[in-house]
Amino acid sequence: MKFNELNLNEDLLKGIDELGFEKCTEVQERTFKHTLNFRDVCVQSQTGTGKTATFLISAFQNILTNEKFAGKKALILAPTRELAIQIEEEAKKIGKHLNLKTGCFYGGVSYNKQEKSLIDGVDIIIGTPGRLFDFMSSGKMKVNDVTTLIIDEADRLLDMGFLPDIKKILKKLPDYRNRHTMLFSATLSLQSRNIAWEHMNDPEMIEIAPEEITVTKIKQVLFHVSKHEKMNLLLGILKRENPKNVLIFTNMKHSAVEVSQRLNINGITSSYLTGDLPQSKRLRTIDDFKNGKIKILVATDVAGRGIHIEDLELVINYQLPEHSENYVHRIGRTARAGKTGKAISLACEKFIQCLEPIEHYIEMEIPIGFADENMYIEDKSERTFFNSDNKRKTSRSKTEKRAIDRANGYHNQSHKKGIGRNIQVKKHPKKNLNINSEIKNIPKFQHKIPVNKLKRPTANSTPEERIAYYKQKYGDNFVLNQSKKTEQSMKKIVTKKVQQKSFISRILSLFKK
Ligand code: AMP
Repeated sequence: MKFNELNLNEDLLKGIDELGFEKCTEVQERTFKHTLNFRDVCVQSQTGTGKTATFLISAFQNILTNEKFAGKKALILAPTRELAIQIEEEAKKIGKHLNLKTGCFYGGVSYNKQEKSLIDGVDIIIGTPGRLFDFMSSGKMKVNDVTTLIIDEADRLLDMGFLPDIKKILKKLPDYRNRHTMLFSATLSLQSRNIAWEHMNDPEMIEIAPEEITVTKIKQVLFHVSKHEKMNLLLGILKRENPKNVLIFTNMKHSAVEVSQRLNINGITSSYLTGDLPQSKRLRTIDDFKNGKIKILVATDVAGRGIHIEDLELVINYQLPEHSENYVHRIGRTARAGKTGKAISLACEKFIQCLEPIEHYIEMEIPIGFADENMYIEDKSERTFFNSDNKRKTSRSKTEKRAIDRANGYHNQSHKKGIGRNIQVKKHPKKNLNINSEIKNIPKFQHKIPVNKLKRPTANSTPEERIAYYKQKYGDNFVLNQSKKTEQSMKKIVTKKVQQKSFISRILSLFKK
């Protein structure tokens, strides 16, 4: 369906036109049917599907055309500052020709500027719950005339513990029967549904399947790679793909900083985005990434999820996400509003256990890529170790670590075979005893299972099975010790029996006498 078939306000249509939007996306087509008729909606939809425009256009159109909404406000709740700012940016673009003022309210920055915009008057209030509630409870933000409420990324708002703030905000708004409420969420969890039941007016449930983003539009590839060789492979991927822009995801904040610093040591300029950065720096980084000043950005889930970048070419999961939904959120950055993109995931021994739930969640196996030796580029940061404060230290080299691993009987062929799927491991050579002190500091990986490992004996195991197990564990000494023990205990039993026998015979002899 085209926007000009929706009977929208002319000035609103002008803004939409100027953005180059012609046809509605699926979520828009399915939602407008209800929202433009003032029906509440509860929409399950990922970012990248055009959901922001969906609720903004609905809110604008209703304020502009319905008497009940005329001169009244809209309130949009978002989980993060970045997302709130992006919503405001899009609102300003779509509503460019409308006489409606937008204001953005979020924590981490001074109250002054935001207070000023409240004094000037705001029609579309966008913000994070904490700061919004601060303004509401101090009486500086009046919300009794809010007739449109939008809750964006409800699942994340709840995950981040905003439920108490949301409830307090809802109490300050007009009753659900006297307002138009729209809830958007990547997943419609029980908690999100509860909000819908309690605070919405018989909402229409709309579900857009997440697989539509991942499966059909994104070229996904997965490389199995050991932790030690990840940076080499990342360098190889960046060289081969040479993307216009790439968003690299890590699970932890310190890993994002480390990966970015390692890339920089290798002469590849990159920046990082984590929740720890001061607000001004975060905003500057996002802006620079959007306008192409930064080509490579390493981010964590929270910081990276709300980023809206047009034409993002590549997403790399440097660490597989621990929550399967985040896989969809991450790779969804690269296939926004119908565009195609590419997502490469690196699965190492530390996060391999996340793969199965992810594949289950997206209902497909991620195609495996095979990297030949040329894809592993020398890593100049190899000897640099970053502690948890991301301070650099020099450490044992990767080659040394690998040599120790091998000496310990663990031969990592992950890049050839695939960790966790088909691993070949050599037998532990017993000769080199010094190696034990060396390997103490090296974490034991799940996939490093010695081939000759036997099952621990159970109560039902035969003596042969037990002996085989302990023999393997302790060597030949076990048998000697055991037989000694048996000898000793046998001796004891025999002596006891002899003693008992002699005692009985002595008593019998007394009776005989
Ligand atoms: P969102 O799902 O809100 O994150 O939107 C993803 C991107 O799609 C944003 O950059 C929007 O500007 C863009 N977009 C939204 N609706 C449309 C549309 N109908 N046609 C083309 N692009 C759109």
